[in-house]
Amino acid sequence: METSLPVAERPRRPDWMKVRAPSRDGNYFDVQKLIHGLSLHTICEEAKCPNISECWGRGTATFQILGDTCTRACRYCYVNSGKPSEPVDPLEPLRLAQAAAQMQLKHVVVTSVDRDDVADKGAAHYAATIRAIKTKLPNASVEVLTPDFLDVEEAALQTVIGARPEVFNHNIETVRRLHRHMRGGKADYDKALWLLQRAKEIADYPVLTKSGIIVGLGETNDEVVETLRDLRAHGVDVVTIGQYLQPSPKHTPIDRWVHPDEFRWFREQGEALGFGSVFSGPLVRSSYRADEQRHAAETGRGAVAY
Ligand code: SF4
Repeated sequence: METSLPVAERPRRPDWMKVRAPSRDGNYFDVQKLIHGLSLHTICEEAKCPNISECWGRGTATFQILGDTCTRACRYCYVNSGKPSEPVDPLEPLRLAQAAAQMQLKHVVVTSVDRDDVADKGAAHYAATIRAIKTKLPNASVEVLTPDFLDVEEAALQTVIGARPEVFNHNIETVRRLHRHMRGGKADYDKALWLLQRAKEIADYPVLTKSGIIVGLGETNDEVVETLRDLRAHGVDVVTIGQYLQPSPKHTPIDRWVHPDEFRWFREQGEALGFGSVFSGPLVRSSYRADEQRHAAETGRGAVAY
């Protein structure tokens, strides 16, 4: 059974992990009102992301489609898990596109819960969402951060890539040794790599592929570099690396606070491996400044550490 350290023994949050509280300056409350008003979900709120003040203050957010209940229960994830009580909402793509248009987003990032209860695992809903965004905002780029589409991978990829997102993201999340333990069920490290490679093979346009790693789960730095190597060997263009935060005492405890100097080292390793963009830092999340990540990969600006 998983146990967590008594409070006194838990590693104290270091200064570099401190974040700003929401402020009345900027767009934070406008974004909140719009998203709640349209009955949309964001991973920013569902995962209690530490960057929400900054991102929403900049007028950006990452939409979460297919409801608020995930059919998986990864050991590190805050998102509510269980049996979804609602069917997939066919009008959600239109409301999301409306929100993106009102926010005047130039790069729209969409992720989802896992829906193992739906035959196509939500692939058609992803495609409908991409198309709705492109109809409403023809000049915006779309980034999708998808689940693993377990058991329907090829068909799901054909459907999603057929809608032509500019960025296809699937997070590997952790190193090979910890992958099955952290993700549970039939989650498969090699399948995640395959998904990223296959997305690029299917696309008849220059799709960017992207993945993310969270550190502080018990991996070693060498294992992180090994994962970077695996991602690069499967053609991944953009990678993010950030610190794990334990969502609740029921989740996997934090193994270590990775120092900013180590994040810088990861970035250098990623640069040396040839990624188009490496965002590596304590508070980096997959969708953190995703527009800049894409821009960096496309312009060859390269790696950034925060
Ligand atoms: S980093 Fe991503 S999930 Fe977190 S607030 Fe920003 S957009 Fe939302």
